[in-house]
Amino acid sequence: MICVLFGPPGSGKGTQAEMITQALGVPHVSTGELLRAEAATGTALGHEVAPVLEAGGLVPDAVIEHLLGRRLEAPDAAAGAILDGYPRTVPQARDLDGRLATAGRRVDVVLVLEVGEPTLMERLNSRAAEQHRADDNPASIAERLAEHRLLTEPVLDYYRSEGVPVREVDGTGDIHAVHRRVLQALSSAGFRTSD
Ligand code: AMP
Repeated sequence: MICVLFGPPGSGKGTQAEMITQALGVPHVSTGELLRAEAATGTALGHEVAPVLEAGGLVPDAVIEHLLGRRLEAPDAAAGAILDGYPRTVPQARDLDGRLATAGRRVDVVLVLEVGEPTLMERLNSRAAEQHRADDNPASIAERLAEHRLLTEPVLDYYRSEGVPVREVDGTGDIHAVHRRVLQALSSAGFRTSD
């Protein structure tokens, strides 16, 4: 089961991914988390990516492919994964399809969390106050939202044109209400969940 959780920064992908790991029986794989972990441990790769993360830019595809490949090969991802923050561009979506095809797999469903920009800004600013993420500063937030509109939104058209089920979910309001909508969307796409 490969489920792509799609949506702009602040749309709640991380929160909702955590909430559906149990229902789907596959782990939450966030490229942002993998990169932040790398930066925090201070590896050579971590030093290379830290300034890119802070500025809200995109990390080179080769780095993402390396980290993602390693993560998807871990035993807990044998049955699949909920992908959060990846693919972020059409070339990354093509890379993922190629990687999955060699294992006879494909993206099964794309869930899109829809949240308007004023709410995103509010959420990102309050996350900045609570979590002190290096990239939750005004310049980086603006960069990440612009990048999402320009480079990431076309990924949805790519999946639609490939015939992958794409389900839109209202990502506003209480996290439990959003979770219920996510489960409904999965079931309307034909996936049984254990919640
Ligand atoms: P996220 O946690 O998904 O908001 O990602 C945080 C940051 O990690 C992004 O602003 C990018 O700098 C970097 N990043 C995460 N995923 C990717 C990706 N698929 N491609 C390039 N950069 C990424």
